[in-house]
Amino acid sequence: MPHTRTELIICEHCDSVFTRIPLDAGQTAYCTCCDGVLAKGYRLDYQQLLALTITAALLLVFSNAFPVIQISFEGLANETTLADSVRVLAQGEITPIAAVAGLTIILAPALQIGVLGWLLAHAIQGRRAPGFKRCMKTLEHIRPWSMLEVCLLGILVAIVKLAGMLEVHPGLGLWTLAMLTVLMILMSGKSIRRLWRELPEPDE
Ligand SMILES: [Zn+2]
Repeated sequence: MPHTRTELIICEHCDSVFTRIPLDAGQTAYCTCCDGVLAKGYRLDYQQLLALTITAALLLVFSNAFPVIQISFEGLANETTLADSVRVLAQGEITPIAAVAGLTIILAPALQIGVLGWLLAHAIQGRRAPGFKRCMKTLEHIRPWSMLEVCLLGILVAIVKLAGMLEVHPGLGLWTLAMLTVLMILMSGKSIRRLWRELPEPDE
């Protein structure tokens, strides 16, 4: 009897095809041809993922509401939030950079969190969200545009570089940005692709 599509798994590295076996949390399946990772057992269920998504939404708001960096020099002090930095870029000579910055550190993560929340809110009820296919494809398309970790690294480099000349303090927004970056890596990785397999397609 031929296998159905959902029972098979293809190695991303060498294109070998295997039969999928159920894995427990923490277990990993490796390709017998190239030793590449085929699949991992999921540690988080939908409810936990949804809780993380809501946390990420709050952290994103905090990252934009509170200053990420505070600078002071001889009694003068200044501080900036992520949104402020985009606004300042938009007023300068390199306006296109503002659009890229706004997209990669605010819009793309916000869209990712919104779509994930929508999908997971329905997944905990065991069904596909309306517009499921479009949402799943959107998540794949925007993942490369979400660059919070690059932003975080840039801010850390700026803090280290400026520390020799000025008094530089990381703001509350930087801590929430760091937590958000870790959460986004946990939630929005390839593991969310399991929704395709685990949620049955409704009868047309
Ligand atoms: Zn392989």
